[in-house]
Amino acid sequence: DVLVDARDAARTYGRGPTAVVAVHGATFQVRAGDRTAVVGPSGSGKSTLLHLLAGLERPSGGRVSWPGLDTPSAESAPIHQIGVVFQGPSLIPALDVVENTALPLVLAGVPEGQAQRRAQASLHDLGIAGLARRLPEELSGGQAQRVAIARVLTQSPRLVLADEPSGHLDRATADHVIDVLISAVDMLGAALVVTTHDHAVARRLAIRREMHEGRLIAPHGTQGPQS
Ligand code: ADP
Ligand code: ADP
Repeated sequence: DVLVDARDAARTYGRGPTAVVAVHGATFQVRAGDRTAVVGPSGSGKSTLLHLLAGLERPSGGRVSWPGLDTPSAESAPIHQIGVVFQGPSLIPALDVVENTALPLVLAGVPEGQAQRRAQASLHDLGIAGLARRLPEELSGGQAQRVAIARVLTQSPRLVLADEPSGHLDRATADHVIDVLISAVDMLGAALVVTTHDHAVARRLAIRREMHEGRLIAPHGTQGPQS
C-alpha cells in the first residue's frame, strides 16, 4: 500500500551556471504504517525532498505520485490527506492555541464550534489542553511544536511529513516532541516521514534513509530503492 511514490524525482533551483540541484533523482516510497527518518546534514536536500513528497513543490525531473491517497487529479497532490509539520514557527500569531489547532478544519468548511471541539480533543491527546487559550508568543519552542503537531492530528491525515520538528530544541525537549509526534501518528494510524540532521532522532524511527549532497543513499543491510 504505497502512499507516496517518488521516481527519480529531482529539484533544481535557478538556472544556468548558478543553478543549485537541491535533490538529484530520488526514488523513495512511503507505505502505510511506515516510520521513516530522512537524515543528513544541513543543505543536503531534506526539506526539498519533503516538499516534493507533500506536493508543495513540483519536481523538475522525474515524478511524484500518490497512488494510495485520494487525489483530485493525477497532477495535484492530496493536500487534505497529508499533514505537514513545518520547520520553524508556523502558528498564526494572532490566533490562540485552540484557534490555531482548529484552523485546517475551519478552512475545510467545518463549523467553528465543531472544529474547536476536535481541536480541544487533539490538545488533550497531546497533554497540552492547559495551553488552549495561550497565544503562540506565550509558548516555549517545545510547546509551540506540540501545538503544530496537534494541528496536524486534528486534520486526520493518512501521511504526516515533519521537517526538522525538533531542530531548534534542546535534547530533552527534542526527544519529547518526537515521542509526541510518534504517538500522534500511532493514534491516527498514519505513515510518518521525519527529516532531521540528528542521528539520535533518526534512531527513534524504524526506517532510516540518509541524504548527502542532494542524493538519497541506500541504507546498509537493507534493499536499496526498488525500481
Ligand atoms: P536541508 O533541508 O537538508 O537543509 P534544503 O532542501 O533546504 O536542505 O536545501 C538543499 C539545497 O537547496 C541547499 O543548497 C539550499 O541552499 C538550496 N535551496 C533550498 N531551497 C531553495 C530555494 N527556494 N531557492 C534556492 N535554493 C534553495
Ligand atoms: P524556548 O527556548 O523558550 O523553548 P524557543 O527559543 O525555541 O523557545 O522559541 C522562541 C519563540 O518562538 C517562542 O516564543 C515560541 O513561542 C516561538 N516559536 C517557536 N516555535 C514556534 C512555532 N512552530 N510556531 C510559532 N511560534 C513558535
